[in-house]
Amino acid sequence: MTTSTVASAEVAVVGGGIVGLAIAHALAQRGRQVTVVEGSRIGERAAAGVAAGMLAPSSEVDLSDPRLTDLALAAHAMYGEWTSALTALTGVGTGYDATGTLLVALHADHLAILQHLYDFQMERGLPAERLSAKAARDEEPYLAPGLAGALRMPDAQVDPRRLLRALPIALERLGATLHEGMRVTAIAPSDGGDYEISTERDGAASTLHAAKVVVAAGAWSRQIASPILGMPVVPLPMRPVKGQILRLRGERIIQHVVRTPDVYLVPRDDGELVIGASMEDVGFDERSRAGAVHDLLREARRAVPGIAELDLVECGVGFRPALRDHLPAIGNVDGAGLLVATGHFRNGVELAPITARLLADLICDDRLDPLLEPFAPGRFAPAAPAEATR
Ligand SMILES: Cc1cc2nc3c(=O)[nH]c(=O)nc-3n(C[C@H](O)[C@H](O)[C@H](O)COP(=O)(O)OP(=O)(O)OC[C@H]3O[C@@H](n4cnc5c(N)ncnc54)[C@H](O)[C@@H]3O)c2cc1C
Repeated sequence: MTTSTVASAEVAVVGGGIVGLAIAHALAQRGRQVTVVEGSRIGERAAAGVAAGMLAPSSEVDLSDPRLTDLALAAHAMYGEWTSALTALTGVGTGYDATGTLLVALHADHLAILQHLYDFQMERGLPAERLSAKAARDEEPYLAPGLAGALRMPDAQVDPRRLLRALPIALERLGATLHEGMRVTAIAPSDGGDYEISTERDGAASTLHAAKVVVAAGAWSRQIASPILGMPVVPLPMRPVKGQILRLRGERIIQHVVRTPDVYLVPRDDGELVIGASMEDVGFDERSRAGAVHDLLREARRAVPGIAELDLVECGVGFRPALRDHLPAIGNVDGAGLLVATGHFRNGVELAPITARLLADLICDDRLDPLLEPFAPGRFAPAAPAEATR
């Protein structure tokens, strides 16, 4: 195979998912010469191509590490402005919608879960409002009769597919380069003091040089080799967590994001209703399975019986990038110019703009925001052996 050199860049971003694109956008805004290398077409393999797009720091506070909640709240605070600026630059609407979330209890066990969540929210000083069954149905008449109660939270949502359309346009407007269908196989420091990035497209090999490299290849981040004995260039304890998710279409029957402890329903202004999602530790299994589809529809129909009249238009599968502790890894890997931003697990759409902003601070200004400290990639490095004692 012959190898050609594509070009060189100040910063190369490996992976054109929501996280990689947001990082490239932030860097290009700060005047950096950025190249994104994406192994397939934008949105084809990226988790955001199927994700629901809930921005839910409040609804998930009981499930989250408090330090992750801090990062999610910072993301929440900037999201509206970030999406408006993106739309102003590209002309693409993002579907950002801050109507909020109703978390609905269908029976007494659900009510106990809601109470538990509410206690956490009060502890964290997060706004949440308890609603009676009647008040919840006044807000959303299509909710099931006989529900036990609800919580209202000021969470938001966005359409991740529209973000995946807007961000490449933004990159083009800002002068960044995007290579689609080009897979990165290896990254190595070069003799010239920068990084040599080996790529492959349609059987043809090429190399790209960059002063800094950000690996944002989601659940595939471990598959990129370093020259050291074929080790992964980012040796993180990474696994894919499969999510199956459905898309229905028809009359808009709910205004809020509606969740129960077993399912969520995300309505969009164009008549789409997203119902999700399974969580499965089965590797990169791309099949839609009847059991998961059935479970999602059953639970969604229990909460909002009217979904039975909508068209089922898509059964999607995506892979959440998960690290052992279910927290992201964002920061420097080798003490030089190699960085990583992955492991965003269930929250990558929500965390993309804050990850991008803080990583751009690190790359452009050498400033490590305290919000990032818990997510240092080095936390998984084996501890140095203790000194022998006598
Ligand atoms: C069903 C489901 C529902 C979800 N719902 C939500 C939600 O409501 N809210 C939320 O915040 N998050 C949600 N998520 C999580 C969110 O989608 C992910 O955390 C996020 O999209 C991860 O983005 P990423 O850019 O890190 O990785 P990915 O989306 O996996 O993107 C990585 C990209 O890198 C490319 N790539 C891989 N290897 C290479 C290589 N060697 N060379 C070049 N390119 C490469 C891939 O093709 C891919 O495009 C959901 C996920 C799923 C699956």
